[in-house]
Amino acid sequence: MKTLADLPLELKRVLVRVDLNVPMQDGKVTDLLRVDRILPTIRALIDRKAKTILLAHFGRPDGKANLKYSLAPIADVLSERLAHPVTFAADCIGPVAKDAIAALAPGAVLLLENVRFHAGEEKNASEFIAALAELGDYYINDAFSCAHRAHASTEGLAHHLPSAAGLNMQAELEALDRALSRPQRPLAAVVGGAKVSTKLAVLGHLVEKVDHLVIGGGMANTFLFALGRDVGQSLCERDMADTARTILEKAKAVNCRVWLPEDVRVADRFAAHAPYQDLGIAAVPSDRMILDIGPKSTAALGAMLEQCKTLVWNGPLGAFELPPFDTATVALAKKAALLSKAGRLLSVAGGGDTVAALSHAGVADDFSYVSTAGGAFLEWLEGKVLPGVAALAAIP
Ligand code: AMP
Repeated sequence: MKTLADLPLELKRVLVRVDLNVPMQDGKVTDLLRVDRILPTIRALIDRKAKTILLAHFGRPDGKANLKYSLAPIADVLSERLAHPVTFAADCIGPVAKDAIAALAPGAVLLLENVRFHAGEEKNASEFIAALAELGDYYINDAFSCAHRAHASTEGLAHHLPSAAGLNMQAELEALDRALSRPQRPLAAVVGGAKVSTKLAVLGHLVEKVDHLVIGGGMANTFLFALGRDVGQSLCERDMADTARTILEKAKAVNCRVWLPEDVRVADRFAAHAPYQDLGIAAVPSDRMILDIGPKSTAALGAMLEQCKTLVWNGPLGAFELPPFDTATVALAKKAALLSKAGRLLSVAGGGDTVAALSHAGVADDFSYVSTAGGAFLEWLEGKVLPGVAALAAIP
C-alpha cells in the first residue's frame, strides 16, 4: 500500500478523506479523539506545502443538504487543535468548492462541507466521484473508520486519482495487523457488549484465530443459558442458544479456550447503584438479572492475561455505564493497561462502546492502540475485506 512518502505532494491539491463524524452535544464536540488522530497527516501535508482539501461526512443527512449536519463548526475545532487556519467551503463539489480551492496558498488547509449532502456519495456514483476527482491531484485516505463503506470519498476516488494511505490509516492497519494477522501468542480476545446477534460473525471468526476467547457482557448470558443455566431476568437471546452452542463446539474443535463467567454480579433492576450480590452462576435467582461478571471470574481473567502476549478487546464485560456494574470492565482494562505499559502485552481495542468503557476506566491512553473505528473495527474482527482498504491496496 502506498503511503504519503510515495507521492510528490509538494504544492499539489491533495484530497484527504478523514473521519470527522465526532460526538456532538449542544453544538460542541464532546470527544476529540477522531480530530486528534488526523492531525499528523494534515501537519505532514502542511510541512510539504501541499494544498490540503479535507473530505468528510457527519451524521446521516440522506443525500440532501441539511445544515443540522454541517461540518462548519468542526472546521473551527480542527483549526484550534491544529493551531493552523482551516477554511471552510459550503459545498464539497461545484463552483463553491472550486473557488475555495483556487484561493488556497501552498500549505493551506480547507474543509469541504459534508460529502453526504450529495446522494452520489453513498451510492459511489461515477458522476459524483468525477466531480470530487477534478478538485484534486492526489487522494489520501486517512479514515480507516469509514473504510467498511464503499462510498465515493472512501473507495471510489482511489480508482480515479493517484492515491495513498494517510498516517492514521497506516497506524490503524499496522496495529490491527500486529494484533490478529501476525500476533505474538498466546493471543486473547475479549468480546463483550449487549447481544450475541450483533457479534456472531466476530465470535465465529475469532474462535479460529485466538487462543483464549473471553465472552462477557449480555452475550455471556446467552451462552450460559445455552449451557442450561438459569439466567433469571438477564438480557438473554434465547433464540441464539443453538448458535452459541455451535460456537462453543467450533472452539473445542480448534483448541480455542472459551472463558465464560463462573460468578456474576446480579441485581433486581438495570440501574446505577442498585443493590447487588456476587453469586456463582449456578445460584442466580430467577428474579434477578446479571449485570456484570463477578470478582472470581475477573481475577481468573487477569491471571490469564498475565500469560498472554497479545489482546484484542471489543465490548464491555458488564453494564459499565451503571456503577457498580462497571467493576469487571474497569479491573480488567486496568490490568491490560498495566501489562501493556510494562511492555508485556500488545493490547488493541476498538469498536462501539469500547473506547468509552476504556476512557471510563481511565486507561484509554495506556493500551498499545485504541482504534477510533466502530463498524470498521468489527468488520475487520469478522475477517472481512474493507472496501476502502482494498481500493488502496489494489493500487500498483
Ligand atoms: P455493544 O454496543 O454491543 O458493545 O454493547 C454495549 C452495551 O452492552 C453497554 O451499553 C452495556 O451496558 C451493555 N451490557 C453489557 N453487559 C450487560 C449485561 N450483563 N446486561 C445488560 N446489558 C449489558
